[in-house]
Amino acid sequence: MEQTAIRERISRWVDAHREEYLRDVARLVAVRSVGGEGKEGMPFGEGPAEALAEALKLAGEHGFLTRNYDGYVMTADLLPGETALDILAHLDVVGEGEGWDTDPYTAVEKDGCLYGRGTDDDKGPAVAALYAMACVRDVAAGELKKNVRLILGTDEESGSRDIRYYYEREKSAPCTFSPDADFPVINTEKGGFVGSFRRSWAPSGVLPRVSSLEGGFRINVLPADAAAVVLGVTKAEAERICAPLAAQLDVALTVTEAPGGVRIAVRGLGTHASTPDQGRNGITALIALLNALPLAKCASAEALRALGELLPHGDGAGKALGIAMADEISGALTLAFSLFRLTEEGCEGSFDSRAPLCATEENCRSVAEKRFCEAGFDFLGNMRPPHHTPGDTPFVQSMLRSYELYTGRKGECIAMGGGTYVHDIPGGVAFGAAMPGFETNLHSANERMNIADMLTAIKIYAHVIYEICT
Ligand SMILES: [Zn+2]
Repeated sequence: MEQTAIRERISRWVDAHREEYLRDVARLVAVRSVGGEGKEGMPFGEGPAEALAEALKLAGEHGFLTRNYDGYVMTADLLPGETALDILAHLDVVGEGEGWDTDPYTAVEKDGCLYGRGTDDDKGPAVAALYAMACVRDVAAGELKKNVRLILGTDEESGSRDIRYYYEREKSAPCTFSPDADFPVINTEKGGFVGSFRRSWAPSGVLPRVSSLEGGFRINVLPADAAAVVLGVTKAEAERICAPLAAQLDVALTVTEAPGGVRIAVRGLGTHASTPDQGRNGITALIALLNALPLAKCASAEALRALGELLPHGDGAGKALGIAMADEISGALTLAFSLFRLTEEGCEGSFDSRAPLCATEENCRSVAEKRFCEAGFDFLGNMRPPHHTPGDTPFVQSMLRSYELYTGRKGECIAMGGGTYVHDIPGGVAFGAAMPGFETNLHSANERMNIADMLTAIKIYAHVIYEICT
């Protein structure tokens, strides 16, 4: 079929399936598929298992051949026989956190968007890929020569043990894309660098002192919220000192009375750990506030002061830690201090850094380790290599062309903070499903997808499938 004809057929088919598509996304959003403790036949807990069951049902209803890989992943095949293209998406989600305007597990259509946990990451795109396959089957059945396999995992947010399990049993297709990021094509992903630190001390009775602090819920989420209990301070004094600084840091402050002192809570703005500059970190803001209080000299005060220097509020580049760096292809290192707990006996925390191609053990991990050890912490750092697929392959060129055809925008290859599903798959790229510039509220409250954009994404995917499989 010539390009204009296939484009028109694809567009007509997708536009006619809008309501059906949104209903199917809503079915998956309704499942709270947050990773949990593994059980018999449910390696990542009940939520992901329930989402897998629902997706198997859905793909079956659409007439695809499905298979369940022991609760780790499911596949849906367009045709029997040789596979030309793997599409990799996931059904698990991160926890809902706080601050939602609507129920996170009820998909709500509002202002041209569909709201709900997983609408963008990654249930909406997963169903979009399924619809793209259905579309090609319906509009070009006779021309299809090769299979497309949709692989839906259930552990993307907690370490991708699902696709490791799958690729231990199956070989990867010659082409792989993952609709788990943004358009146009992401062919370069930074490496990962996770640093964890801890320090213990003997309980102290001095006042004022911080007796507990808690912030963050996942390593890859820059947290909005953090709260601490400070003993030996009045509410009036805490407010007098903290309020102006909180305003300056642009975080909401709540001080309440607690036995023997006050509880200080801050709320900034949560975001994905790979884009720290788009958020306001509750942990680092709270540490800055605590460091402004007249704390008595003790180990916890000392640790908080050190952390305020090593990982200061607003430093999303690792400058203070001495690991800020950048290169042409992959951009700048980012750093998010994402988990922290402090008690009367010690503290522990972690940061999630995304390191460019130029990062090495010497200029990154060793530098951070040295700084933390000098400040009296035990430190453990882990680096993960970056991912890069050349942008001039016929596969990538087909994706860029299809993107341009349906959006009228310029297609190009870009680098990102990384950790997409194709990170360890040779030749894999991330491809959509969000359009550039659209705020998805990924991993945060009020997650959403733009409905018109997602229909365009289905068309783009269908076109790529058509080009590769006929
Ligand atoms: Zn995702």
